[in-house]
Amino acid sequence: MSLLELENVTASYGHAEVLHGISFVLDENAAAGILGANGAGKTTTLRAISGMVATTGKITFDGKDITGMRPDQVARLGIAHVPEGRGTISDLTVHDNLKVGAYQRHDRKQIATDIEFCLDLFPNLRERIGSNASALSGGEQQMLAISRAIMAKPRVILLDEASLGLAPSTAQRVYQAIRRLRAESSVSLVVVEQNAMLAFSVVDHAIVLEIGTTSLSGTKAELMGMDAVRRAYLGG
Ligand code: ATP
Repeated sequence: MSLLELENVTASYGHAEVLHGISFVLDENAAAGILGANGAGKTTTLRAISGMVATTGKITFDGKDITGMRPDQVARLGIAHVPEGRGTISDLTVHDNLKVGAYQRHDRKQIATDIEFCLDLFPNLRERIGSNASALSGGEQQMLAISRAIMAKPRVILLDEASLGLAPSTAQRVYQAIRRLRAESSVSLVVVEQNAMLAFSVVDHAIVLEIGTTSLSGTKAELMGMDAVRRAYLGG
């Protein structure tokens, strides 16, 4: 049984259906990618999982049908969403944002250990621990948003365009930390990216969306070997 499974999922904004039947699996301890051009439906797929958009079809998490659940219920089950545009609390410090991430936990010692883990993962955040999130650079805000998700101790993190708007070297640093997170924890990841090279540095397999449908899917090696993927996403 997969940890997270989407079966023929559609999603609509009002009367406009923008996902037309997506299927997708994520195993425990795995990382899966959702690639595709602007407007293909990548963000909407994550919103469908998180219960933020009207869906049909079936979404199963850890054997439980979560289709139609509210975002807070989905989060409580162990799915953390790092949205595009980040989602940190701007007038709280880095340290308080990390604590807010853990608000549903009561294991105080482990919370302190996990804060240390995040600060090791993102040394920039250690330097900015007392700063308000609003004072951070875009890269640091992304690091904080990911860390907040880690602090919830989820089983799955949904990561939406973590490289968006970042300088290439900063995006590399963020993805280096995501690879380390994969290696050093048991969390599973769904990685939405327009930058396929960055996504392929983390994921085991991926789907490629085109106007709300799956145009390609396969393992990282299979996809990287496809001409269509190389031409459209890998610059060659
Ligand atoms: P991007 O990289 O630009 O975020 P994406 O692949 O994540 O692209 P989505 O944001 O999921 O794509 O958008 C899929 C489609 O849904 C697009 O046609 C978009 O215009 C539409 N859409 C997105 N958000 C809304 C909304 N709140 N209301 C109506 N339509 C929306």
